[in-house]
Amino acid sequence: MSENPTDSQPYKSYTNTLPTILSMNRYIILFIAFIFVFVSCDEKPSFIDFTYPEGNRKALVLSYDDGTIQDIELAQLFEKNNLVGTFNLNSKYLGVTRGWPQQNGDTIYQKYVPKDSLLIIYKNHEIAAHGALHKNFTGISSDEVLEEINTDLEILKSLTNREIISMAYPFGSTNDSVSRLIASTGIKNGRTVEDTYTFDFPKNYMMWHPTCHDSKVLDFLDPYLELNEQQLSVFYVWGHSWEFGNEKRWNNMVKFCETIGKSNDIWSVGHGQLTNYLLAIKNVQVDEQKITNPLDNQPIWINLSSGIKKLNPGESINLK
Ligand SMILES: [Zn+2]
Repeated sequence: MSENPTDSQPYKSYTNTLPTILSMNRYIILFIAFIFVFVSCDEKPSFIDFTYPEGNRKALVLSYDDGTIQDIELAQLFEKNNLVGTFNLNSKYLGVTRGWPQQNGDTIYQKYVPKDSLLIIYKNHEIAAHGALHKNFTGISSDEVLEEINTDLEILKSLTNREIISMAYPFGSTNDSVSRLIASTGIKNGRTVEDTYTFDFPKNYMMWHPTCHDSKVLDFLDPYLELNEQQLSVFYVWGHSWEFGNEKRWNNMVKFCETIGKSNDIWSVGHGQLTNYLLAIKNVQVDEQKITNPLDNQPIWINLSSGIKKLNPGESINLK
């Protein structure tokens, strides 16, 4: 009697049927896969909402005023942590040192960044306007307000070859007529110093109230990291790099940047880029059958029932 199991009848019969069972299973799996692919290709997604790039829903804006030389270290801190800042500059003070009289009789001397270094210092950051001579916009004539902003636009554009679309009000001082006047120059947002302590958007982008001054930034760090809301939000921080002469304040900022820089669901963005994105969302046409991103718009990310999708200019998607 042979020891070879293939000679035994029961085993032989089993080995004969095994390939048949396997290939049947394969056909069934292929058939199911085909049906699945066919159905999913045919099924149109439904539109849920807009997101920031890459499906993010949280954003961070870091807006710093005056353009003094301490910006150099702050900009480097942002870069180390993959963060983007918006720096609001007084174009007529670039390269000079001037004294600012204080209410208590002291004078604070400020040294401003040199004209020829803007594209080095702010290479990875947004450059924005802050009034050529830092005048109080609610205490001067309309012509003077326009002069302050138009001078900034002219000088900053010529030094950087960039389009300037953001600004911060000197002393945070503004009102309806000032904000309308500034919007007429092509500026798309105007930041105040009225802290909201929220992560909400303003109704009027020309009266953009920030979340908080950087002296309170750690109070809002954990709440923002833990925020898990469907709606878009922004953590908007403002301040002056010259205030970081205070070591405790600087160390707090380092801690803030190092922590928030590690988060992977927050879009660190310049104020102008954020504003442009929000304005571009408003241009997207959504109706019951279709969502269309106009040809002259920028790419927009949308949340569909099938997942996050980037919608390029000129692209449209049929909806369920
Ligand atoms: Zn200022």
